[in-house]
Amino acid sequence: MADELFQKKYSAELQDYSLRFLKLIDRNDKINSVTDVLVFPVEGVKRLSADIDGLNNDILAAKPETEFEHLLLMNLSERLNSMRLSLNEYYEREFDYTYYLKTLGINEKDIREVIEHLKHIDLQSEAEKLLGSGESLYRGIPESKEEIKKIEEYYDEFVRLSYEVASPMLTKLFKDYPGYRGSVELMENRNNRSSYSRTGKVYLNTFSPDVITVKRDLRWTNIIDVFSIADIVGEEGILGHQGQFLATESSDIPQFLKKVQMPACTVNAEAIAIFGKHVMVDLLKNKRDMAKDINDKDFDLLSYNLGIRESSDKTNRFVNAYADYFYFTKNREIGPMSDEVFKIIRSPWNVSGVYKERIKAYFNTKFWENYKRSISVWAYAIADVMAMKFEKRLAGFDFETRSKILAYMQLGFWSKNSYEAYFDYLVKELA
Ligand SMILES: [Zn+2]
Repeated sequence: MADELFQKKYSAELQDYSLRFLKLIDRNDKINSVTDVLVFPVEGVKRLSADIDGLNNDILAAKPETEFEHLLLMNLSERLNSMRLSLNEYYEREFDYTYYLKTLGINEKDIREVIEHLKHIDLQSEAEKLLGSGESLYRGIPESKEEIKKIEEYYDEFVRLSYEVASPMLTKLFKDYPGYRGSVELMENRNNRSSYSRTGKVYLNTFSPDVITVKRDLRWTNIIDVFSIADIVGEEGILGHQGQFLATESSDIPQFLKKVQMPACTVNAEAIAIFGKHVMVDLLKNKRDMAKDINDKDFDLLSYNLGIRESSDKTNRFVNAYADYFYFTKNREIGPMSDEVFKIIRSPWNVSGVYKERIKAYFNTKFWENYKRSISVWAYAIADVMAMKFEKRLAGFDFETRSKILAYMQLGFWSKNSYEAYFDYLVKELA
């Protein structure tokens, strides 16, 4: 299957905008790379800002002939907005919380949606589930060579499986399985999580608390958490980040879509990773024999754990995102309305139980670090919302249609709103 949706003649106009955009992004990168406290290229920033506005105005006035070209222009325009907002933030110190959210493409409607989701989550029963599962939620670390070897085998097997189910568009990139396996490296590392690198390589950590669950019986037994391993392979590997990167790199799509621009494309990349995770977990559930060393009771326990972990992670992200938003936009005092927020937050999702302190700490010396981190909470919360919507929409299609849409969903780096529109377009064209 070729990427036929992209095999179109683009208008001269689009090609021109695309080139101008690429030049602007280069200038933006250069400015960011030389800037520190002493070097502050005020004039360069002013010129760049003006040129960004100029291009964005041209794009907004353009009348694209096709719907697809309209999507591409939308992507360009949103990226330009994000770039411009970040410049203002750094150089003109012009910011507030919603301003930051805008660099991610998050708008009022998204914020309302998160609040709406929160309203429908039964926090009390979520908390009880989490507490009730106490004996199965401990994280451990691998304790023997044999255990690490087993974990390696699981990684290997799940990597193979993810390759097997990836779209043909992707698998043609790796001539055969060893080709794909070569893009994955196992590591034994106490400090780093598994990750994906922009060289196209995935690093899977065999020595990490993420891959071991401890069962509290007489001896506190370690169980290899196969669902966690599936999660990691799905998120980082060919069905997630790696797949998006490699598919995008190797495809014949407009050059600017290959530019990974953060924060403009963060939500898009994370929504894809969430999808990858879910595909892998579903596979494991349907191929129970993949985890043949794990007895049925432990398998059920792990599966149960997974459900709790997923819903508590999601709830935690929504709660944190909302609390941050509330704090930064409405009430910077720990005041009456925030009592309501804290009632929620004091629930067990917040392992530390010191959220109040954390919020107070926003205004101490670490203010900026915390501020930035809270932005990423929003990126993940919105990626969750997006992935939920996509999954709901795709659920009704047969396997083939679904795979085809999924393959296209990995093509290109999109800004948040253009990605939602692109998804609608794919469903319309391919389903
Ligand atoms: Zn990720």
